Amino acid sequence: MGHAFTSVRWQRALAWVGQGVSVIDTPTLVIDLDAMDRNLARMAAFAAERGLRLRPHAKLHKSAELARLQMAHGAVGVCVQKTDEALALAHGGVGDIFISNEVIAPAKLARLAQAVRELPTRFAIAVDSALGIARLAAALAHAGVERPQAMDVFIEIDVGQGRCGLPPGGAAVALARQIGDHPALRFAGLQAYHGRAQHLRTLAERQQAIEGATQAVAATRDALTAAGIAVPLVTGAGTGSFPLEAASGVWGELQTGSYLFMDADYAANEPHPEAPAFEHALFIKTQVMSRGVDHAVCDAGHKSHAIDSGLPQVTFPDGLLYANGGDEHGLLRATEGGTPLPELGETVWLIPGHCDPTVNLHDALVGVRGGLAAGRVERIVRVDARGAAG
Ligand code: PLP
Ligand code: MN
Repeated sequence: MGHAFTSVRWQRALAWVGQGVSVIDTPTLVIDLDAMDRNLARMAAFAAERGLRLRPHAKLHKSAELARLQMAHGAVGVCVQKTDEALALAHGGVGDIFISNEVIAPAKLARLAQAVRELPTRFAIAVDSALGIARLAAALAHAGVERPQAMDVFIEIDVGQGRCGLPPGGAAVALARQIGDHPALRFAGLQAYHGRAQHLRTLAERQQAIEGATQAVAATRDALTAAGIAVPLVTGAGTGSFPLEAASGVWGELQTGSYLFMDADYAANEPHPEAPAFEHALFIKTQVMSRGVDHAVCDAGHKSHAIDSGLPQVTFPDGLLYANGGDEHGLLRATEGGTPLPELGETVWLIPGHCDPTVNLHDALVGVRGGLAAGRVERIVRVDARGAAG
C-alpha cells in the first residue's frame, strides 16, 4: 500500500497592489516603474530615430507582460534564448518571438513545431548547422505545419565571441540554400551578436570588437549576395554596444535586453556618447536581520541575486559596502566617516550586478510607481519563463 501525497505549492505574498513600499516583503525584486518607463521610451526612440527595428531580448525579464509592453512601445517582437522561454511567452500572448539561439534536440523542436501549428504567435529561430535545419524542417513536417514560410530562419555567424555561429564568409551559402529548399522555412537573414564585446570597459575596445564583427557580417552578406541570395536583415547587438551596430550600416535590428533594468555591471562601462542615459530600474529590497559591532547582516544573499558579474551595490543607505555572506545573507559595512550602519529591521536597497540571472531566481517582480522611498505597488509582474531552461 502506497501513501497518497498532495503537492501544494506555497507561495508568499510579496506585496498587494495599492500598498506602500514599506510593506513589501524581503528579499524581493522591485521595479521602479517610472525609471523602467523612461528606459523603455529612450531605447524605442533611439531605434526609431535611426530607422532600425527593435527586438528587445526577453531573457532579461522572462515576462509576457513586459514583452507585450515593449511591443506596445514600438518593438517588432522579442528575442528569447530557449525553446521553453518562447513557449511561456507565446502562451502569455506575445505575438512575435525569435529564438536567437540554436536548438538541436528533436524533443524541443517538436514542442516548438506544435506551438507554430497551434498558436497565433509568429516564431523565428537561429541555426548554424545543416543538422539543425534538417531537424527543424522535419519537426514542422511531423507536426503538420504546411503553411509556406511558417518560420523565419536566421543563420548565426560567429562575429568574434567564439561561441555559436558559422565562420564568416561563404560557409553560410550552403545553409541558406538548404533553408530555401523547405517551403515551411524562410531565410530571414543573419544573427550576429558579439556577447563578449558588451562588457569591454572602454569605448575604444568595444569599437574595435564591433568593427571586427561588422567586417565578418559584411563578408558573409557579400558571399550570399554573390551567390544570388538576398539577405533581408541582420539582427544583433546588446546594451553595451548597440550604438556601434546602429551606426555600422549593416545591422537592421537591435536586440538589446538589459537596458530596461540596467545592472551595476553595465553602469561601469565607459558610455558611448550617443547611448541614451539608462537608469537603474530593478532593485533588491532587503532588510537588516542581525547587527554586529562593525557590520549589519541583511537577508539578501546569492539565492536572491546572481553574482557572476560581481556583487550587488548598495544604493540606499548610500555609502555602505556589500560583501557576500552566503546563500541567504549579505554583510554590510560602513566606509570610513560614511553613513552609519542601518539598525535591525531597516530597509536596504541593492542594485544587482547582473539582472538576467537575478530575475530567474524569483517568481515575480513587484512594480512600484512613485519612487522607492514613498511609492506604491502598481502591479506584480510574473516571471512567466522562470527556470525555462529547455
Ligand atoms: N542578443 C543575444 C543573442 C544575447 O545573448 C543577449 C544577451 O546575452 C542579448 C541580445 C541582449 O544583451 P544585453 O542584455 O546585454 O542587452
Ligand atoms: Mn546578461
